[in-house]
Amino acid sequence: MSSKGICLNPVILIVEDQGTDALVLSEMVRDLGDVFLASNGSAALVIAKQCRPDLVLLDIEMHGMNGFAVCKALKADPELCDAAVIFVTSHTQTANELRALEYGGIDFIRKPLQPALAKAYIKAHLALRMEAKRLANHDALTGLPNRTLLQDRTEHALQVAHRNQTRVAMLLLDLDNFKGIDNTLGAAISDALLTETAARLTCAARAVDTVSRQGGDEFVLLLPEVSDCDAVNQFAERLLTRISAPFLLEEDRYSLNASIGISLFPDDANDAESLYRNASAAMHRAKIEGRNRVCFFSAAIERSTRCRHLLEQKMRIALEDKAFEVFYQPKMATHSETVIGVEALVRWRQTDGSFISPADFIPLAEETGLIIPLGEYVLRQACKDAQTLIDQGNNLIVSVNISTVQFGEDNFLQMVHDILQATGLEPEFLELEITEGVLAKDVNKTRQVLAALRQKGVRIAIDDFGTGYSSLAYLKSFPIDVLKIDQSFVRDMLSDKSDAAIIEAIITLAKALDLEMVAEGVETQDQAEALQNYGCDIMQGYLYFRPVPFLELCGLLGFGTITTP
Ligand code: C2E
Ligand code: MG
Ligand code: MG
Repeated sequence: MSSKGICLNPVILIVEDQGTDALVLSEMVRDLGDVFLASNGSAALVIAKQCRPDLVLLDIEMHGMNGFAVCKALKADPELCDAAVIFVTSHTQTANELRALEYGGIDFIRKPLQPALAKAYIKAHLALRMEAKRLANHDALTGLPNRTLLQDRTEHALQVAHRNQTRVAMLLLDLDNFKGIDNTLGAAISDALLTETAARLTCAARAVDTVSRQGGDEFVLLLPEVSDCDAVNQFAERLLTRISAPFLLEEDRYSLNASIGISLFPDDANDAESLYRNASAAMHRAKIEGRNRVCFFSAAIERSTRCRHLLEQKMRIALEDKAFEVFYQPKMATHSETVIGVEALVRWRQTDGSFISPADFIPLAEETGLIIPLGEYVLRQACKDAQTLIDQGNNLIVSVNISTVQFGEDNFLQMVHDILQATGLEPEFLELEITEGVLAKDVNKTRQVLAALRQKGVRIAIDDFGTGYSSLAYLKSFPIDVLKIDQSFVRDMLSDKSDAAIIEAIITLAKALDLEMVAEGVETQDQAEALQNYGCDIMQGYLYFRPVPFLELCGLLGFGTITTP
């Protein structure tokens, strides 16, 4: 957004080469707006370019460029020509005044200055100027920014996004079949519907967004700070939902729908004009495809957001239908050849009986917040199952993966507490696996949460250790029980010397800090032996067991001590 576009505070530029007069003037207008000072004509033009004044208080007699020349230059610049120029002068000759008016000045303040009178003058002019500005930049019916202001804000947003290498989204929303409503119901009703639409859109937008009306039933939303296309898609879908709620005008209900076209900077366009043109093309496609829908300009973006949108919807239904299952992968203590614990790993069962891997849906679940109910479900199920095992005489520790999003929730501790209570599982049998990213996120809060878990007796493991920040300071200062060596190191440890060296270093570190260690992804006997030689005894991997459903796990454990295949 440009300073001119958003600035509600008037900007006043004082151009005066006499120090005392400059001081008196600035003191006088101090509370009327943002005040800038220039002590000569050429400095005034430079500052004006930056601050884009609404009002210029301009001395006529100055060294170098005089006030007339400055006024002429301001009026010749399309970005500055709207500024109201008031001359400040001791001249009283009519010829001079006429000349000043010819150059585009609107009034005079006489020197010596009479502050009270001069201030009243300035105030009145400013009020007029600001009202004119508002009218020029806003739609008369809805009060929303109009095409001019939108253009200004778009250009500014693109500059910022270019600098920060971020995205800008433009959504063009057009009401479906509105012409028919307009023709049959009349102007008063259609105006009321447009005003209500404007209010609904404004309510849905963030403070940084611009909701504008282009005319007719076409609205444009400019989203300057866009994280990803899915978020834009979700926002657009929310707009459609809002518009489709019935409109109640007096006693009558009206139903409206809208079509939305989206184009993105820099994906689809590099300038404001093409961004608008492409949003418009996408909107027309939405109309052709049946209205009441969202279309992206780019087919590729559309495909991927649609896929993800579908996946998200499927995931919500799956949660309700209990299609997520918890599998368990045993962890082996190799010297005693016993299972000492299990890791709970979520699986999504499809109607054909196949499973979608968590790697494919956990990231989206994290982005959409679905990880919260999903994670809670996994934790509850895992604690319940662990208690069942204990009841059967298998005192195993159950490890549950906790996503960064879950860990950051305010009620996370309470949730863990409630689940332990409800399932009756002793906290010592629960281990939470977090990643190094959690430790680095909000150090103080993390420390508090971990301390509370430790006090309760819940164990903490750092999952995928070595792939994240691997800060030794964190390890020392947080209450951690276990390091899980990431499977990528284990996979290549026999062929890649540096992976072997990393594993050795992690094991040495874990021993020094008195932490338990688990090697993940152990697939071969050679890997197991090498790990044992380095001093790591607890292993998890296909060499021993794949993740299995709970019933199968019970079957496995039913044999008592488990021997490696
Ligand atoms: P993770 O926590 O590091 O889990 C270990 C992953 O390695 C599991 O993949 C497991 O099936 C796989 N694995 C075990 N042994 C071997 C092996 O010998 N070779 C190979 N190649 N892989 C092995 P999975 O179940 O697909 O899970 C992937 C990741 O998804 C997990 O990595 C974890 O970060 C995440 N995840 C799984 N369940 C949950 C959950 O309930 N909540 C959260 N937040 N994340 C989960
Ligand atoms: Mg894990
Ligand atoms: Mg892992």
